[in-house]
Amino acid sequence: MYANVIVDISNDAVDRVFDYIALDDTEVGMRVRVPFAGRTVLGYVIGLSEHTDFDREKIKPIIKNLESVPKLKPEILQLCLFLAKHFFLRLSDCIKLVLPSCIRLDTQHEQIEYDLSLLLDIDTAINLIGKRAKNQLALVASLNEEGMISYQKAIELFGRTSVNSLIEKGIILKNSRRKNRLQYIDKKTIQKNILTPSQMNAVNTIKNQNKTFLLQGVTGSGKTEVYMTIIEDCLKENKTAIMLVPEISLTPQMMDRFNSRFPNDVAVLHSGLSEGERFDEWERIFNNKAHVVLGARSAIFAPIENLGVIIIDEEHDSSYISESNPRFVTHDVAKFRARFNSCPLILGSATPSIESYYKAESKQYELVKLPERINGLEMPKIEIIDMLNEVMDGNTSPFSRKLLSKLDDCIKRGKQAILFINRRGFASFVMCRECGYRAKCDDCEVSLVYHKEDNELKCHFCGKRYRMLTNCPNCNSTNIKYGALGTERVVNELKSIYKDIPIYRMDNDTTRKKDGHKKILEQFSTHTPSILVGTQMIAKGHDYPNVSFVGILDADVSLYNSDYKSNERTFQLITQVAGRAGRKTNDGYVVLQTYAPNHYVYRFAVNYDYEGFYDREINLRQTTGFPPFSIILRILVSSVSDNRAKEVTKKLFDKANQLKDKYGKSIMFLQAMPSPVKRIQTKYRYQILTRFVPDDKIIKDFYNIADMIEKDVSIFVEVNPNNLR
Ligand code: ADP
Ligand code: ZN
Ligand code: ZN
Repeated sequence: MYANVIVDISNDAVDRVFDYIALDDTEVGMRVRVPFAGRTVLGYVIGLSEHTDFDREKIKPIIKNLESVPKLKPEILQLCLFLAKHFFLRLSDCIKLVLPSCIRLDTQHEQIEYDLSLLLDIDTAINLIGKRAKNQLALVASLNEEGMISYQKAIELFGRTSVNSLIEKGIILKNSRRKNRLQYIDKKTIQKNILTPSQMNAVNTIKNQNKTFLLQGVTGSGKTEVYMTIIEDCLKENKTAIMLVPEISLTPQMMDRFNSRFPNDVAVLHSGLSEGERFDEWERIFNNKAHVVLGARSAIFAPIENLGVIIIDEEHDSSYISESNPRFVTHDVAKFRARFNSCPLILGSATPSIESYYKAESKQYELVKLPERINGLEMPKIEIIDMLNEVMDGNTSPFSRKLLSKLDDCIKRGKQAILFINRRGFASFVMCRECGYRAKCDDCEVSLVYHKEDNELKCHFCGKRYRMLTNCPNCNSTNIKYGALGTERVVNELKSIYKDIPIYRMDNDTTRKKDGHKKILEQFSTHTPSILVGTQMIAKGHDYPNVSFVGILDADVSLYNSDYKSNERTFQLITQVAGRAGRKTNDGYVVLQTYAPNHYVYRFAVNYDYEGFYDREINLRQTTGFPPFSIILRILVSSVSDNRAKEVTKKLFDKANQLKDKYGKSIMFLQAMPSPVKRIQTKYRYQILTRFVPDDKIIKDFYNIADMIEKDVSIFVEVNPNNLR
């Protein structure tokens, strides 16, 4: 028997199947050790066959099977083949997506814990022990009361000698148990709600249908409740579920809701886990010990079987498209798995992506709506403040007068406020007023951000840190100008107004440590009145009943991000952030500060008019030829050598131009240029940007062009990228 093996080497030249002689118990899906080019490497068996097209004389046997139960289940193996084909990836890279490194490379192992229990009835035990062994008597008494005590705890309480002596005498028993490194301490019971008619309708429409649904409902309309009901029904039918949320929505609240509803049946997978925790969670899923997977993007690869539903919550979120290699689109992966299991895929959002809504309109998805907030609560009123007026009236602070008065009102009523500013640090740049010098990163073509707390300048692209300037390195002037404000400065200013009120800051800098989000949110939720200042990570998933005021300090930040998704993203962000206010009471109020008060994005956002916004936006996309009416593809070329990057770009561009001849008008735009950020982490960056009518053949041809190996240059293809930088 021959085994078809993929070797674990990330290299285009070996990205194919090699045949080896299978061992007796080699099975499809196993990890194996194989000889390869004079050394031994890790491999994965993706097939077994009686025949081989290779020279039989030269085929070598597998050295060793690395497991007795294949780590790659049949569905997951099929998924890898799909990924490779659909996203033009190497098979070995696909396997890296589906097997976390702790599993793939055996870097973690299970931990065992022991429990003690009584073997005899209590009277017999006491008789056998005798009156003098006080500790032993105390232990059996506790065991009689509690049934089970952990070995470790018993040793601490009663001493090792007593414990071991009781075990030796056969009075108590030591049982081994697999330890779960991830522990849920606060096991709250959260009441299950009786569904409203529209929730009920959603559940009944979606249940057991082998289709993709777009579930649109404003924030607080009860989508999560719908998801949980459908998952519950799946579990009753012995099926399983995957629910994906954006990384930062994996809040303690979400975990509590799921753990309370599905006790001991939820496994979580996200980037905040330690390797050991990830190993345990993955194995619990693999061994069918958990039937609900709750996680971020990569949880879509969970080795769960017999799926009854897949849910992508906040489906419009950009985190569902991975930005680095191996690049994939979560929606497509989810669709594959849903079709494989003949189960529904639910895409949920208050503000679906334009592309998904377009698919719903053209009947590729079925649209299901939850039109109202629970309990008839209204969406909070959003008021637009023209910041130019503030400046004209002599107010140069980052806060408009209206914002301050509403904030004050909120605090006086003992409520909580959230202030949103999508920029971290203190100031977006520092610049010399005399000569115009601007502090930039040595390795990236970007301005450095001032972080006052650490008195440092930081590069937000590569993380490099620099000492803050006291005077200009160019002309020595001390007249330094600060750029647009960030979270740190907002907190600073607020502290001078509210000296006795807790003010929390949530951004990449304050949440870097493990459970960083959790700690800040826990503190915020237990203090009223209080203020939370944060970047977009405050926008999602939080459900705090006491938040009545939301201030959006500089809405224009995302609006002028010159790419085709910036309108869409701004609309989504405003709706999300505004949705944090007034979730339990009708006193929510939102102030939105802007220099472009008449922009249509804001006009539609203040009325929560998604359909209105969509109509306008889809029209624009159609007339300008942007997705979903076209595909945007970028070939990014980067190298530490500027010349090499340019050379290769030129070479690629010449080939790309031949495609233009081949496809004619179908290719609407094709240009080579430096990337918007010309240098990141010492690498010069150039790009070939193209737009063409949706056609897989053209995508494939561009991939083929980019599939060349160039010394010291990396080439990366992105389809409809989230951001072009
Ligand atoms: P969404 O996911 O759309 O933001 P949630 O499912 O989180 O909405 O619901 C918002 C709030 O309303 C939550 O506090 C939830 O517990 C509550 N809720 C949801 N459905 C019901 C219901 N049928 N009856 C009462 N309360 C509900
Ligand atoms: Zn840098
Ligand atoms: Zn200067």
